[in-house]
Amino acid sequence: MSQQVDSSTQVGSNFIKQIAVDDLESGRKEYLVTRFPPEPNGHLHIGHAKAICLDFGLAEEFNGSRCHLRFDDSNPEGESQLFVDSIMEDIKWLGFDWGDHLYFASDYFEQLYDYAVTLIKDGKAYVCHQTPEEIRANRGSLTTPGQKSPFRSRTVEESLDLFSRMRGGEFADGHCCLRAKIDMAAPNINLRDPIIYRIKRATHYRTEDKWGIYPMYDFTHAISDAIEDISHSLCTLEFEDHRPLYNWFVQQLPMKGNPRQIEFARLNLDYTVTSKRKLRQLVDQGLVDGWDDPRMPTICGMRRRGYPPAAIRNFCSSIGVTKKDTSIDVAKLESAVREELNQIAPRRMAVLNPLKVTIENYPEGQIEEFQAKNHPLNEELGTHTVPFGRVIYVEREDFLEDAPKKFFRLTVGREVRLRYAYYITCNKVIKDQNGEVVELLCSYDPESKGGGSADNRKVKGTIHWVAQEQSIQGEARLYDRLFSVPHPENDSSGKDYLEFVNQDSLKVVTNVMLGPSFKQSRLGELFQFERNGYFRVEQLGPKLIFGRTITLRDSWAKVASKKG
Ligand code: ATP
Ligand code: MG
Repeated sequence: MSQQVDSSTQVGSNFIKQIAVDDLESGRKEYLVTRFPPEPNGHLHIGHAKAICLDFGLAEEFNGSRCHLRFDDSNPEGESQLFVDSIMEDIKWLGFDWGDHLYFASDYFEQLYDYAVTLIKDGKAYVCHQTPEEIRANRGSLTTPGQKSPFRSRTVEESLDLFSRMRGGEFADGHCCLRAKIDMAAPNINLRDPIIYRIKRATHYRTEDKWGIYPMYDFTHAISDAIEDISHSLCTLEFEDHRPLYNWFVQQLPMKGNPRQIEFARLNLDYTVTSKRKLRQLVDQGLVDGWDDPRMPTICGMRRRGYPPAAIRNFCSSIGVTKKDTSIDVAKLESAVREELNQIAPRRMAVLNPLKVTIENYPEGQIEEFQAKNHPLNEELGTHTVPFGRVIYVEREDFLEDAPKKFFRLTVGREVRLRYAYYITCNKVIKDQNGEVVELLCSYDPESKGGGSADNRKVKGTIHWVAQEQSIQGEARLYDRLFSVPHPENDSSGKDYLEFVNQDSLKVVTNVMLGPSFKQSRLGELFQFERNGYFRVEQLGPKLIFGRTITLRDSWAKVASKKG
């Protein structure tokens, strides 16, 4: 019986969902089973998030469907349990669950070996003694056919014997290999007798030294999909040319499964690189503070940055799934983050670049407490207490000496509203020997308590502040985009992407003024610092350290439009 398709299923800009619906409705497929197949040789990045949301997300849409997590661990170099653990943590954090369906290609090594033997017995594979260079040289090109290997006509018995001796460890790395016997004149080069097993005496993180031969990706992947009875095997476009080979393996072997491979465009993001190899280079060269540096487009980096998982999921669904290779504006991801944080992050006042203000007519020693809402719209998020006193701190940028008319913040002779508290007027500026402003002397209107005056006079500007009384000091790390150009990997200047690392992507501010409510902060907690952006508690002690998740507005749009 075929799986129920809910007619309300929204296909939208996801062509694969449409294929799944069609396959199920027509009975071509009885059920939907997808898989996400990471190689445990690095941490996941935002590109993988797209694949995860697609693979797991699709399975969530159809009743009774499932998505497997399969580690594609057939290449011992660089693979490790550490990456397996981190990948599982990242997928769970994104909000997906593979249930009981956790698999490892390395668990299929014995079966894969047996299938290779079957191919040899059927005359569809042979052991070849050409060197890798010879194999490459004899592959031919798009316009010329390949040259047959002299070992292609070897007997089945001879190949069987050699293959078992390959397994037995008799030969050195690269001494010979097992190749599929398909067609050296095939228009698709992938079908010109591809290698399916190579000798590699390397220790595997799971099978240790049990194997000295390892199956190649195309062979492993197709058979793993068929073993698990995957219905739709979704992968990125670079595998489109491999599909005939994928199908060939599945067809030659006596397998129950008949997976259908469908390719989609990989995610590329402006101002970002999404390749494990390139991300590793950033880590290895010390250009970032590890894979989970908050500027990294890795899932662990975005987690440490404070990106909510829902924002990443929303972003992935907003970009759709197509076959067209494009680069997505990173502002789209950032705006999904803002949208989510706007809903969930409690508001606070914090001053990043403090300037002292003394309110001369406010009674010495008097402290008042105001109740500030944690969220302008969501009452459920409650309130917090903000003390007010004679000495407060405001942002240095909120004061200007010779201010233009439209500057609605602090300048001598102008009145401004202190959020939640009073109207104050700046009367005098105090400077040090170098002429730098060190303090403002102001007066307040006692009638304006709570932010409105008795005579309803207009005060245009409202600024945030922190009272000296009960304040604590913290540090803020102001993160910004890691690259300074939209396409670091292929900039018109031809320079290497490493040269475009944004030198201003991390600024540290050391004397942030914070109100007493921050004394209860928890690690990882997210706040909106009013007028300053969204921040995450990155370290609790000895000093409270915040990382800026994102600014309140996109400041790059302007830069980009100026550049034309
Ligand atoms: P990288 O190119 O960063 O090295 P990879 O493809 O080698 O990544 P895998 O662990 O093999 O990494 O990827 C697991 C799955 O994630 C694959 O199905 C792959 O197609 C998919 N994937 C990888 N990068 C992207 C991307 N940028 N956009 C969409 N899907 C991706
Ligand atoms: Mg890959």
